[in-house]
Amino acid sequence: MRILLVEDETAIAHFISEGLEEEGFAVDISYNGKDGLRLALDNLSEYDLILLDWMLPGMSGIEICRAIRKENKTVPVIFLTAKDTVDDVVFGLETGANDYLRKPFAFEELLARMRVLLRSSQGEQNTFKYADIELDVDTHRVLKAGKTVELTQKEFALLELLLRNKGKACRRTRIIEKVWDIHFDHDTSVIDVYINFLRKKLDTPGQISFIQTLRGVGYRVNDDA
Ligand code: CA
Repeated sequence: MRILLVEDETAIAHFISEGLEEEGFAVDISYNGKDGLRLALDNLSEYDLILLDWMLPGMSGIEICRAIRKENKTVPVIFLTAKDTVDDVVFGLETGANDYLRKPFAFEELLARMRVLLRSSQGEQNTFKYADIELDVDTHRVLKAGKTVELTQKEFALLELLLRNKGKACRRTRIIEKVWDIHFDHDTSVIDVYINFLRKKLDTPGQISFIQTLRGVGYRVNDDA
């Protein structure tokens, strides 16, 4: 899943993005309000959730949130704020944010609140199964025949995307949008490399791969198991 983070304090921005990347999210960071708004509006359909600092140079998080809500009513938005009076919080939520977190916060709390919002926007399901392969988003674990399989962040994110869309084609452009961030260098052969990693780790020897190649289109996990 792809996240936009608008935060001018670089230490906080890096702390959050490193944590999220470890959880398999692709994260685009913007360090000021104007760039943040441009990124948000340019890629609005690609972001699954937006994290907005309140006090930003150039343009406040409030203004960005209002502009986002004009274009998109549903993408979850969480404010990260040092402003903690009740009035400020109410005002922040009235602009269309879904939640807020007061700084300093524990990363685990941010992650938990993000999961709550993502669950309601992406569907309640947080565990996925195909034949003897199981993926649990909350515990960030993948099992094959009951045994834990170690996946890298990108492998996990790619598998999650395929399983969330079981039975449907995952187009190459969509895979890039959801699994890689904006610094991705446009060589989409990286997708095939990661698909092969997943196949090596999760296919059953002697059987055809659980991931079908759709030539020129992308990949699909069938709906039949
Ligand atoms: Ca700030």
